[in-house]
Amino acid sequence: MSGCIFCKIIRGEIPSHRIYEDDLVLSFLDANPINPGHSLVMPKKHYTTIFETPQEELHACISVCRKVGEAVYRAVGASGLNVLQNNFRSACQFVDHIHFHIIPRRDGDSFLAPWLRGSATAAEMEEILKKLKAEL
Ligand code: 5GP
Ligand code: ZN
Repeated sequence: MSGCIFCKIIRGEIPSHRIYEDDLVLSFLDANPINPGHSLVMPKKHYTTIFETPQEELHACISVCRKVGEAVYRAVGASGLNVLQNNFRSACQFVDHIHFHIIPRRDGDSFLAPWLRGSATAAEMEEILKKLKAEL
């Protein structure tokens, strides 16, 4: 994709701090890190969201997430690690080239306070499960 910022990075047209790459996947440091060591992992081919990305590339990405995630975790002496993947604006995806965030965490850091949890009745669970299974 000619206008995609991540495709430009992959092609080497825009500089980046590359951590790891192979035939299918590239990982580099996020330019606006949530915490030091915040990194991105993505397929080298352009796909917008998880829905379009072929299994082989998804598998390759998650494998690199583990490899780079462990390196980041050790390198910064983190006590936690988030692997996040946003799809569409409603879920805070702002670059439309699928990517995984590798975010090292420490107790009490400012990112993602414990999630506000809801609740669901047994009937609501059955209803959503029925709808979901119909889509599989
Ligand atoms: P999203 O919100 O789409 O899941 O995250 C996009 C991420 O890409 C953001 O964390 C942002 O800081 C990062 N980013 C955007 N443009 C660039 C860039 O040109 N270089 C690098 N290294 N990271 C970028
Ligand atoms: Zn792209």
